Amino acid sequence: MRLKTADEIELMREAGRVLARVMRTVSEAIEPGRTTILQLDTLADELITGAGCIPSFKGYKGFPNAACISRNDVVVHGIPTEEVLVEGDIVSLDFGVIREGWHADSAWTFPVGQISDDARRLLSVTKECLMQGIAKARVGNRVGDISATVQKYAESNGYGVVRDLVGHGIGVELHEPPSVPNFGRAKTGPVLREGVTMCIEPMINQGTHKVRFESDGWTVRTADGRLSAHFEHTIAVTSSGPVILTQE
Ligand code: MG
Ligand code: MG
Repeated sequence: MRLKTADEIELMREAGRVLARVMRTVSEAIEPGRTTILQLDTLADELITGAGCIPSFKGYKGFPNAACISRNDVVVHGIPTEEVLVEGDIVSLDFGVIREGWHADSAWTFPVGQISDDARRLLSVTKECLMQGIAKARVGNRVGDISATVQKYAESNGYGVVRDLVGHGIGVELHEPPSVPNFGRAKTGPVLREGVTMCIEPMINQGTHKVRFESDGWTVRTADGRLSAHFEHTIAVTSSGPVILTQE
């Protein structure tokens, strides 16, 4: 793990602020029955570059767009298309920003117009998984404390926790050690020290935790076709507790 100084964390926070602002603006552009997924990606790309930053996903391992946009049963890594978002959909926006060489990465799942009570509950439980995981990101805890907390809350609500994709360290690279799984045992894994920066990102399914990878090399869907939600923040472990860097 590459530990960051307070000054470096402050630079990551600036990248995170840009990301959070773009996330909010893009989400506000969603109009049921009108907005295409590609329009949201284009807007994110323009806002990120307009802020003097680089959209880190674009070109990452050949990913074609600035944002991964994942609708309904798409878990993560959806490639933007001309599909129109319709009332009742849920849609995850996931993107990364590089500012002055420092990365931030965040994802949020939004309702498109009125959504079902079941979908609403999935969003609120997944967001709560993220918040409970972040609360465990304390000096002296271990990565497994985050993992176990997220898994317990999701499964106690009857949901499946995706195994095949995990959170990650972040800093001068989009993906750095350690891996931050959303499942596992407390008191196991790397010890968290002051200056650890990482992305906690629960991916929670309504049904089975199993996923399938599409032949486009990116799109990940739930194996049973039911909904999936994804919430992610970049956070720093500090002597005064966890700090969320991807907020305005
Ligand atoms: Mg992300
Ligand atoms: Mg991430």
